[in-house]
Amino acid sequence: MSDKVFLRAGRERSVERRHPWIFSGAVERVEGTPSLGGTVAVCDSKGRTLGYGSWSPASQIRVRMLAFGVDCVPDGACVKGLVAASLARRGASPLAEQHRGVRLVHGESDGLPGVVADAYDGWCVVQLASAGAERWKEEIVAALMAAGAKGVYNRSDVDARRREGLAETGTTGVLAGGEPPERIEIHEGDIRFLVDVRHGHKTGFYLDQRAARAQVGAFAAGRDVLNCFSYTGGFGLACAAGGAKSVENLDLSQAALDLAKENFALLFGGLGTSRPTGDAGEVGTSRPTGDAGEVGTSRPTGDAGGVAPCPVSFVCADVFKQLRLYRDQGRSFDMIVLDPPKFADTKAQLMRAARGYKDINLLAMKLLRPGGVLATFSCSGAMTPEFFETICREAAWDAKRDFQIVTHTQQAVDHPVSLSFPEGSYLKGLILRGVVAPEQAI
Ligand code: SAH
Repeated sequence: MSDKVFLRAGRERSVERRHPWIFSGAVERVEGTPSLGGTVAVCDSKGRTLGYGSWSPASQIRVRMLAFGVDCVPDGACVKGLVAASLARRGASPLAEQHRGVRLVHGESDGLPGVVADAYDGWCVVQLASAGAERWKEEIVAALMAAGAKGVYNRSDVDARRREGLAETGTTGVLAGGEPPERIEIHEGDIRFLVDVRHGHKTGFYLDQRAARAQVGAFAAGRDVLNCFSYTGGFGLACAAGGAKSVENLDLSQAALDLAKENFALLFGGLGTSRPTGDAGEVGTSRPTGDAGEVGTSRPTGDAGGVAPCPVSFVCADVFKQLRLYRDQGRSFDMIVLDPPKFADTKAQLMRAARGYKDINLLAMKLLRPGGVLATFSCSGAMTPEFFETICREAAWDAKRDFQIVTHTQQAVDHPVSLSFPEGSYLKGLILRGVVAPEQAI
């Protein structure tokens, strides 16, 4: 390997500990002229090879490791092998499973820095966010097709590419196989979701909240639910399936809410039935008949074999403003879900983000009826679970409410975190239950 990166003395420890990022400040000198995304040998200050990684000259993260040690110099076959190994960790043939939505490759934690590959009913969607990921595009696509993908669609329209000095045009479209359908149906337990891989957020869907949606749905029976930052219905559908009394979905994106409406129609009896959709965006009107137990109640069943409809509404609005409006109107709910987008990209943005989290959590706590449940999340990697809990605690003090932590939630199991790469853990959540003083409880 003629292209070599020499680390400053004392800066080799993180590579030795299998951390995949080498920051610009750790690099002493470069030998050769590595290309954008090209493979370099990473050496300590004495010239001993520690491993191999991909060169990102424009980024603060100058090298992303692909192989530790000297046994294997990464080449096309090696990258294909990494993709195949990542898929094998998701089951025997994850691409053959009908209606499965699954993250196949989770970047650094699966040994492929900057590479995300999701599958929806056998259709793959990739996000290539680093120079190395782009360099190995063909091999990654070939490996997915070899594993049985119906097609591979590119959704590399991400900001991170700018920091990597990568082209920001031509980042979307079919890379292999056929054109994916406009809407791909995936199933999460008994819930059916339609995914729009071309226009949806990220690769089309928030697979990372799969486990949390099930956990939250188990608390919904008999409750009036406000699902903030609903996207295509996610938590609201899980709550309706769990026997919620009503569900209001709130999001800034009308396109997301339109798809949410379709997903609720599927839940309540399948598309193509003559179920009326009201002017106010309501789906269904009758109430569920399930009992109001907290966990594990069976789902009520509707006439058409789906879930018995409950009143559902869709409001296109800014959550920060809408929660204040509801406060001023004196509205209240039995359950509120807060699943906002990332408020902080970096540690520097953390304090501003903290104010945002506190604001919405405080507002939501005040809107909760006694004994109400708040399911609150943060997908900001810079926010630790401890700090997030502190913010919620301070919000509860200000709201003058008492809560119990019933459950901590985290990203779904197909979004693993390499033990050597704690940065891979980004999603955290709390299910909080309001504690009712004895005199109120009567
Ligand atoms: N809970 C969803 C995922 C939420 S993603 C699921 O389970 O699938 C975050 C969502 O917040 C996006 O749909 C985005 O459109 C929306 N959003 C971002 N800022 C918002 C704001 N200020 N008010 C309302 N919605 C917002």
